Amino acid sequence: MISFAAGEPDFPTPEHILAAASRAVHDPANHHYTANAGLAPLREAIAENTLRYSGMPADPSQVMVTNGAKQAIFNACAAILDPGDEVLVPSPYWVTYPASIELAGGVPVAVPSTADTHFKVSVADLEAHRGPRTKALILVSPSNPSGSVYSTTELEQLAAWAISTGTWVIADEIYQRLAYAEPVAPSIAQITPDLENLVLVNGVAKSFAMTGWRVGWLVGPNDVVDAAARYQSHASGNVANVSQQAALAALTGPQDVVEEMRQAFDRRRKLMHAGVSAMPGIRCHEPAGAFYVFPNVTALLGEGHPSSERLAAGILEAAGVAVVSGEAFGAPGHLRLSYALGEEDIERGLSRIAAFFDTL
Ligand code: PMP
Repeated sequence: MISFAAGEPDFPTPEHILAAASRAVHDPANHHYTANAGLAPLREAIAENTLRYSGMPADPSQVMVTNGAKQAIFNACAAILDPGDEVLVPSPYWVTYPASIELAGGVPVAVPSTADTHFKVSVADLEAHRGPRTKALILVSPSNPSGSVYSTTELEQLAAWAISTGTWVIADEIYQRLAYAEPVAPSIAQITPDLENLVLVNGVAKSFAMTGWRVGWLVGPNDVVDAAARYQSHASGNVANVSQQAALAALTGPQDVVEEMRQAFDRRRKLMHAGVSAMPGIRCHEPAGAFYVFPNVTALLGEGHPSSERLAAGILEAAGVAVVSGEAFGAPGHLRLSYALGEEDIERGLSRIAAFFDTL
């Protein structure tokens, strides 16, 4: 079995982060409840990180530490949405967005995009789906599942639209340091200081290979952070202190570990994209960030495999390779293949899929 389905780095968490966590285990201060919004030194480090990578000056009081970026997205929805409020979600989308919105009482509204625009939405696309109940937009760049990265110009246009329409933006920047044209993807925060209704979501999971430590955060206006912290105080309380100390070591320690992983992902990206694009009938735009390719496989659908979901099941059964079908992301006719695994496995998995496609 080879899995192209994983949404997480295959690397171990870097050694200096493990050392900080080991020290934290033996410090009794970490054995007790702490502030719901996060440890003060970590909130400070996140504020500095936000200025450095997203270009947004933030006070530590505007930072809230959450149980992964996943909880940050939910907390942001819970703080911002009233029952029945609509949230625009460009599709293909990460499946957690619509679920989080619904859990918070909101209504997700998909805004479709196509490969022709590299799966990015324009102001016209958003306007076509905006209504009287539209409260927010969830924007992710680099994107899961498409790997697309919005340019500074595109973000400027979206930000101007958000300001003029009074729409909140929840910007998920979890993959911001896994961009390949430039080391850091542009942030909607750095180009639009006027965008007050903005919540940034980020975390250590992807850049530092720390998915299991469960540390993410949101950065936003104080009233949003205060409401989210009150909510979290009842829902789960503080994030595990040892994990917070590990995240602090990640943000304040050597950053070359991020660059090394980024370069490894870049090599794998080229390998995966070239391999998938060479398969007859497949169309695949080159991803500019994150660690996924999102090919269009409609030309391969037919008898026996009438949908991408059935095709993914066929690949698993016949080739022993796991991929995720586009249906999961609101984009039937596509597959998502993660390249967060070793180059040999990528090559083996690709040749098995190609051999299976030859039989169709
Ligand atoms: N946002 C996106 C776009 C993701 O792909 C993921 C992980 N699949 C997350 C957030 C969740 O990150 P975390 O592990 O920090 O909850």
